[in-house]
Amino acid sequence: PYDVLVVGGGPAGASAAIYAARKGIRTGIVAERFGGQILDTASIENFISVKHTEGPKLAASLEEHVKEYNVDVMNLQRAKRLEKKDLIEIELENGAVLKSKTVILSTGARWRNVGVPGENEFKNKGVAYCPHCDGPLFAGKHVAVIGGGNSGIEAAIDLAGIVKHVTVLEFNPELKADSVLQDRLNSLPNVTVLKNVQTTEITGTDKVNGISYVERETGEAQHIELAGVFVQIGLVPNTEWLAETVERNRIGEIVIDNHGATNIPGVFAAGDCTNNPYKQIIISMGSGANAALGSFDYLIRN
Ligand code: FAD
Repeated sequence: PYDVLVVGGGPAGASAAIYAARKGIRTGIVAERFGGQILDTASIENFISVKHTEGPKLAASLEEHVKEYNVDVMNLQRAKRLEKKDLIEIELENGAVLKSKTVILSTGARWRNVGVPGENEFKNKGVAYCPHCDGPLFAGKHVAVIGGGNSGIEAAIDLAGIVKHVTVLEFNPELKADSVLQDRLNSLPNVTVLKNVQTTEITGTDKVNGISYVERETGEAQHIELAGVFVQIGLVPNTEWLAETVERNRIGEIVIDNHGATNIPGVFAAGDCTNNPYKQIIISMGSGANAALGSFDYLIRN
C-alpha cells in the first residue's frame, strides 16, 4: 500500500505529493488531468515571486517538479469511490483499487458556465471567471458580471475599483447577495445593476465586444458594448464522487480542520475542493503542503 495517495493533480495535489515524497514515504498521485484548472488559464500574474507565467507552462513545471521525486504518477485516471477499511481504498473508473494508509483529496473545482453562445469561444479572450486574477486586464474598460449572488456582487465591487464601468446582470428579479454587499455596490458611481434579465449571447470577433440579453418581463432584446464578461454563477467542487463518505458542506466542499484533516481518520483534503474560502493557485499549493504534513503527522502517530 501507499503511505500517502493523492487524488487530483492540480497545484494542491502536486504540492502535497512533493511534500509527502520528501519525507521518504511511499507516495502516489492519481489525476484525471495532471495540471488541473491552470491548464485552462492564459496568463498568471499573482503567483508570488513569478511576475508572469502561463497556465500550461506552470502545469509543465509542476509535473517536472513532482517527477524529481519518487512518486507514482497515474495520469488520466479518474477516482470514483473512496472506502475506509483497515486501509483507505480508492477505486478508479478503470476498476483498479488503490490502497493507502492516508489519502489527500485534491480534486479541485470547476466554474459553472452560463452556457450561452460566445462563452467558450471567448474564454481567455474577454470571458473570465476570476476577478482577482483577470480584473487588472480590463483596467479602464467596461465589463459585465453575470450573477447577483455573493460572488457576483463581490466581483462587481472589486472590479469597480479597477475598470471604468461594471454592469451586473441578474436572472432573478432580486439580487441574492448579502445586504451589506448590495449596499456597498449601490454606493459605487460606476456600476449598473440589471435585474430580471437573461443573458443570451457573448458577442465578439477575435475577442469580446459585447453582451446580449433579454429583459424577462417585456421580452425585449438588448445589447451592450463592452470588453469583458466575468461569469460568477458558482464554483462547483469536484466532490460528487465522494457521496456520503467524507463530510461535505451545503455546497459540496470537503470540510477540513487546520491540519487538512477530514472527518475520516487518515483522509485529508486540500485546495479548491475544500471549504477554504479563497480559491487561488498559491493558496492551493499551501494547503497541499499543509495536508501532506498533516498526513505525515498522522502516520507517525498511528
Ligand atoms: P484543480 O486545479 O482544479 O485540480 C484538480 C485536479 O484533480 C485535476 O488534476 C483534476 O483532473 C483532478 N480530478 C478531479 N476529479 C478527479 C477524480 N474524480 N479523480 C482523479 N482526479 C480528479 N488562480 C490564481 O491564483 N491565479 C490566476 O491567475 C488564476 N486564473 C484562473 C483562470 C481560470 C480560467 C481558472 C479556471 C482558474 C484560475 N485560477 C487562478 C484558480 C486556480 O486555477 C485554482 O485555484 C487552482 O488551480 C486550484 O488548484 P487545485 O489543485 O485545488 O484544483
